Amino acid sequence: MNLKIDPRGLPLDGLHLEGQLSPGIFDLAENDPVKAVSPIAVQLHVIRDDKDLVVTGSLGFTFEFTCGRCAERFQQRFSLSPYDLVIPIENDHPIDLTTWLREDMLLALPPHPRCENGNVTPRACPAEGRFDPAADAAEDESGKAEGSRAWEALDQLSNLKRN
Ligand SMILES: [Zn+2]
Repeated sequence: MNLKIDPRGLPLDGLHLEGQLSPGIFDLAENDPVKAVSPIAVQLHVIRDDKDLVVTGSLGFTFEFTCGRCAERFQQRFSLSPYDLVIPIENDHPIDLTTWLREDMLLALPPHPRCENGNVTPRACPAEGRFDPAADAAEDESGKAEGSRAWEALDQLSNLKRN
């Protein structure tokens, strides 16, 4: 699915885009514990409002994580709906929506994944209730490590946009 928008070529009443994006757009490392496991369902309406591109619609995607408590793998489905986004148009340059969508989707991911939030195969975390202060402290650290790649990718994106 091509999400490159040419602001000059946009019909006055906007453009409807519907389809699937490859999970490959997240470009996460092979060994990253955070894994995109489904195509991204995209339904968007793109319209120009003077100096801005106004995007509305919905995004659906599934990620796989390692639970910070029991260390087991689980999947979580995300639905950004309604989804909206405003992108400034600079000199009528084409805009690739993929970059923007990618950032918003990464922001929607939990920094501390917990398998009880998995909604693909609902379950109770087997480690829930086993209170261990040492493990709880360690868990915060592993939670950070878990999301680090995704956050790194996000930082790079923000830098790109600022420059
Ligand atoms: Zn768990």
